Amino acid sequence: MQRLIVPLAWLAIVAPLTAQEYPSKFSPEVARHPAVLDALAYIDTHFEEQVEEWIRITEIPGTSRHEAERAAYVRRELEALGLEVHVDSIGNVVARRPGTGGGRTVVFAAHLDTVHPLETDLTVTRREGRLFAPGVYDNSASVTNMLAAARAMTAGGLTTKGDVVLIGTVQEELGLNGMHYWLGQNPAVPDMLVALDGGLGPVRYGALGIYWSRMVFRGAGSHTNYSRGKPHPARAAAQCILDIYEVPLPEPDAPVGAVYNVGMLRGGHVVNAIAQEVSFTVDLRTVDPVLLAQLDTAIVSACGAAAAAGEVEFHREWIQRNEAGGTPEQLADRRAHPLVQTAVDILRFLGYDMGDRPPARASGSTDANAGVLRGIPSISVGRARGGEQHTLSEWADVASAKIGTKQIVLLVAALAELDEG
Ligand SMILES: [Zn+2]
Repeated sequence: MQRLIVPLAWLAIVAPLTAQEYPSKFSPEVARHPAVLDALAYIDTHFEEQVEEWIRITEIPGTSRHEAERAAYVRRELEALGLEVHVDSIGNVVARRPGTGGGRTVVFAAHLDTVHPLETDLTVTRREGRLFAPGVYDNSASVTNMLAAARAMTAGGLTTKGDVVLIGTVQEELGLNGMHYWLGQNPAVPDMLVALDGGLGPVRYGALGIYWSRMVFRGAGSHTNYSRGKPHPARAAAQCILDIYEVPLPEPDAPVGAVYNVGMLRGGHVVNAIAQEVSFTVDLRTVDPVLLAQLDTAIVSACGAAAAAGEVEFHREWIQRNEAGGTPEQLADRRAHPLVQTAVDILRFLGYDMGDRPPARASGSTDANAGVLRGIPSISVGRARGGEQHTLSEWADVASAKIGTKQIVLLVAALAELDEG
């Protein structure tokens, strides 16, 4: 019988054109490398210890600007692996896993801080395959995954050509301050940046623009008895809120959306007087920098007009300002960077099912945004499945953190390039 020889070129044509339209650094051979196999096996055999550490880290207070105790823990554990570790002046813990040369430097960042106030009860409970505690998901899971991946790579003897930098960042929740600081000090270090944050799901390669403002209206005030016709900050603020909700937004199904919300109102001290100061907050979000600026101008103008009509003073205070990275069209070159498809392929290889969702999205609100804005190829990848983040009922699915951890090892192997020795 004649042997059937199929030319390779022909195979390439008839093979279904799946998602492989984007370049990727991952192939199953990367995952079959002995050092990678050993590292992945280490994660499996040490997973229960990882969960115990996850609980330990979650129970260390980590309120933004109070990350020092967590930072000290992470520093100790990374030093125990023989890595060079230092804490920079803002408080980031930075460890370097030197490469053998000739590869790309890949930076991984997991934020140490949580939104929960210092006095919050952080006791973790475990039931039905889940951990429950404030901060257990965002972002204690990623910090733990990063440590577990680092140990696994050391145990497996995994070496790369490129340097791998592992950072526990501070003040992410306050506007990515730690990451911005580190990138400001080390602008030329990262060839690629991977933020470990968010739920397992689409790889995010963009930056959602988020403007948090406080709109402040002021007047002289007056006792109710003498208040008729006097300038009235509360009326001006109320008018402005009504006007803001007339500012048109893209249709909900538009390719690039935008949202805003008036979330907090405050003002006044007594029932029987015009308040001297009234304020409210606005949370405005879109990935499109032009739209972000337009909407912001429209909102601030609406407040200015309402204040002028009401003869009260107005100013806007910034609470937080994260710039937008761009629309999917504007970031098409970022999507085409191998970093993105590599991460997508790794998630698929690990069996994570993204369902009908696009595997990569031009959004994101993590430390990766700081890289996106500087033109550094940057993504964020998830840590586990979970929910209710930033609330007291926050939870995380235990088993899925294994995928979150293994993906770090595979990202290192693919992006920083395994050194065959
Ligand atoms: Zn987070």
